[in-house]
Amino acid sequence: MGINELLKSVHPFSVLNAKELEKLLSESRVVEFREGESVMRIGDIQRHLYLIYDGSVRVMSDGDENASIKTLKRGDIFGEMSLLTGEPSIYKIIALNECRIIRISEKILSFIIGENEKFLNPVNDVLSSLFRERHDDTRLLTALSLNNDPYDLAFTSTDDSIKILVINTGSSSLKYSLFDTSKNITLFTGLIENIGSAESVHKTDTREGKEERHLKIDGIGEALSEMVSFIKESPVSGIGDISEISAVGHRVVHGGEKFSGSVVLTDDVITSVKECSELAPLHNPYNLAGIEEMRRLLPSALHVAVFDTAFHQSMPERAFKYAIPGELYEKQQIRRYGFHGSNHKFVCLRASMFLKRPLHSMKLISCHLGNGVSLCAIERGGSVDTSMGMTPLEGLVMGTRSGDIDPGIVFHLMRTLNMSPDDVDKILNKKSGLLGVSGKSNDMRELFKSALEGDIGSKSAINIFCYRVRKYIGSYMAVLGDADALIFTAGIGENSSEVRARICNGLESFGIHMDHRANRNARPQKGEVIDISKSDSKIRILVIPADEERMIARETLHAARMAGAGHRTAGSIPFVVQPSHVHLSRSDFTTLFGNNDAGKLPVAGLQTAFKERVRLIGPGGEIDEVAVSGSFRDKTQVEVSSTDEFRLGIMAPLRDAGDLEGTPGLTIEGSKGAVKIKRGVIRVRKHIHISVKEALMRGLKDRDIVTVRTENDKNSILGDILVKVWSDSVSAIHIDKDEALALNIKRGDTGDIESIRSRLYM
Ligand code: ADP
Repeated sequence: MGINELLKSVHPFSVLNAKELEKLLSESRVVEFREGESVMRIGDIQRHLYLIYDGSVRVMSDGDENASIKTLKRGDIFGEMSLLTGEPSIYKIIALNECRIIRISEKILSFIIGENEKFLNPVNDVLSSLFRERHDDTRLLTALSLNNDPYDLAFTSTDDSIKILVINTGSSSLKYSLFDTSKNITLFTGLIENIGSAESVHKTDTREGKEERHLKIDGIGEALSEMVSFIKESPVSGIGDISEISAVGHRVVHGGEKFSGSVVLTDDVITSVKECSELAPLHNPYNLAGIEEMRRLLPSALHVAVFDTAFHQSMPERAFKYAIPGELYEKQQIRRYGFHGSNHKFVCLRASMFLKRPLHSMKLISCHLGNGVSLCAIERGGSVDTSMGMTPLEGLVMGTRSGDIDPGIVFHLMRTLNMSPDDVDKILNKKSGLLGVSGKSNDMRELFKSALEGDIGSKSAINIFCYRVRKYIGSYMAVLGDADALIFTAGIGENSSEVRARICNGLESFGIHMDHRANRNARPQKGEVIDISKSDSKIRILVIPADEERMIARETLHAARMAGAGHRTAGSIPFVVQPSHVHLSRSDFTTLFGNNDAGKLPVAGLQTAFKERVRLIGPGGEIDEVAVSGSFRDKTQVEVSSTDEFRLGIMAPLRDAGDLEGTPGLTIEGSKGAVKIKRGVIRVRKHIHISVKEALMRGLKDRDIVTVRTENDKNSILGDILVKVWSDSVSAIHIDKDEALALNIKRGDTGDIESIRSRLYM
């Protein structure tokens, strides 16, 4: 039987017409497996639907090596959950004999689902029933920990050879790297410096060695053309025609509040990036010039902007706002943004892989110590605070930047020395830091040399530098409450064991114990991680080489994939404004009300609610008449709005429902008793409930993180909204009442999904 006949005889493919079948087959591959060969391992991210052409396979669960769940044979399908989850497999599948399996791309399936309702309906039936018995997050996260490349830093998510160019354009320099997703190496990197002068230099570093060409390059356009000729000429690139580069990742310094992730550059996005230029006049215009020129040179490639600020958009308001008049934030966007985001994100993904712990469960402090220096406190995979502010000048001592100073110094200099704003800018950005204090150099290597020869300025510079980092680590310990690892990265962080030792000296009471020999010997290569802590150190100390370019390439690949996925069917989704409410466990319900067979009442914002109400008692105050959600949970959870959080005197973190670790508790009082919960109080992250069918139609996956455009007079974009697919839910965007107030969203308002930005845990 040919593949065509097989498909025609297998449900639900049998409903497809000849044209659809042809399209499906054109994007499918037949893969052969030998007896005993692994078809899918636990932890493999599922991206295909598999149909057995001949032979048979055995599906086994993770618990017991030999536990066979079922045997599948010709005409059977597996991998169908990938359409809605894109999750790691919690099963392993082994070929029982020689077999051929048709591997159908998720993209084409998703396309046909959107076009053909006769195909959508049976797929919906199958997936809805699978979704009812869905496993919990623990199993998912365990499976993910078995994946060797869970975050796709080695590009294992794609079987194809995709060439990705990463470029970083500055005022007088162009840095670029070329990646090929079929090879886990950077093909080459290049740097063109002194653009605009007669002494430009083009340095390249390929597998064949390093080269330097001296030439005259007038502007960024010429620099990019020089880069393109080099790529075409270099045998290492394997590129004959520049159009073989299918994606370009552009590093963009400032994404303002608009971008919390990487995005495909369209004309609209470029307009928004231009709007952010006011915030980074020394950087964004050059980045934009590079984008515009590359779009002209490579019109068929997908261009993606990866922002230095994006990773820090998860900072809470208390961390990102300055204590200045509110309208300066509202009208001038003066707030803390943070930078070095791509590398802070990169090292925390690497740390999670190295420690074999889900990122989601860890607290990390990342110290990016290069020419620019910033620290970042990371919780549940997101930045919760960082040392750089509205500009990269805030925070730590850097090569030539001062970091934190009393802002009064600025006025003092202007008044007493008659300096202009530009003069002060120059002093703080170019003449301060290690260079300013030492009066000698901004290079840590030079400073150590002269400090050892007794130079006072060099010793001061090193001491101030290390002290300031230590002080910030201490404050981030207070921000996080605890930490699993302290990470050193970038030029100084990776290379200077002396600086690392000086910083960690005195942090022992936090549980940070350095193994000094390991520290001295640590020389990690790109891609490696070295643990320099003592075996009994509570907090691991890791040295992780920076690789911003790889992170940008990975982000580019993912943004391109997100842009290609989903968002087929648009349509309004109603907002549901939720009041503070509790979800009770059955036993807590009994304690509070003496029975568990209670009546229900409709309550605005909740699908169903029990008639009973509770009083919440926090350390700072009480709230009466709080609604109780009408279904029981395994663990009691209290979802409060930010005003109610304040009333209770609690700091409730922003969390996804059910994710209660490390959250505060309080006392709940009912008509017959009270319970004191140790944890469970959260402010719930904005989320969308959506049915399996609607998710299939829209091309959305469970745990996608999307942006929503409100369809009211404000027409604003809400970011970071979690998609929750349920087998039988009514589509609704849930937000709490304070957020609704701030965004002017009223009951009955609607929104529509604007784009998919990323995925939870990935
Ligand atoms: P950038 O922030 O510009 O990317 P890097 O991360 O490359 O900078 O860091 C450059 C800095 O790293 C240099 O200025 C120098 O101070 C420091 N550095 C590099 N190698 C060493 C070393 N072996 N020992 C101490 N410091 C070093």
